[in-house]
Amino acid sequence: MRRRQTTSKQSTRCQGRTKSGKPCGAAATEGGLCFFHANPNKAAELGRMGGQKNRHHGLGFADPPQDLNTAKAVKEECARLIENVCTGTVSPRIAACVGALLNLQMRVIHDRSGSPSRKIRTSTQ
Ligand SMILES: [Zn+2]
Repeated sequence: MRRRQTTSKQSTRCQGRTKSGKPCGAAATEGGLCFFHANPNKAAELGRMGGQKNRHHGLGFADPPQDLNTAKAVKEECARLIENVCTGTVSPRIAACVGALLNLQMRVIHDRSGSPSRKIRTSTQ
């Protein structure tokens, strides 16, 4: 006993599209759009609430990095970050942010310790 519901389902599907451009497909309300597409501000509101909730749930660092003044320390922190993301200790959003900062810190360290051009210039003068 198989009932074909595709036609009736399609008519109640949301006509909107997701951020990635795919058909939304969520259950539509009267206007032919789902709740979020009919109320885009509500979605943003809920998203904000969700973000705040995540923060309260401690998806940040339990023990923030203390000393990142050496390339070795930054490297170790990178490894720890990867481990924490994989185990779900740190949210991917925070990890992306920290990852970018670690990248920056690594560059700063390299600039400070290994700027041979400047060293050569001062020694030859
Ligand atoms: Zn929708």
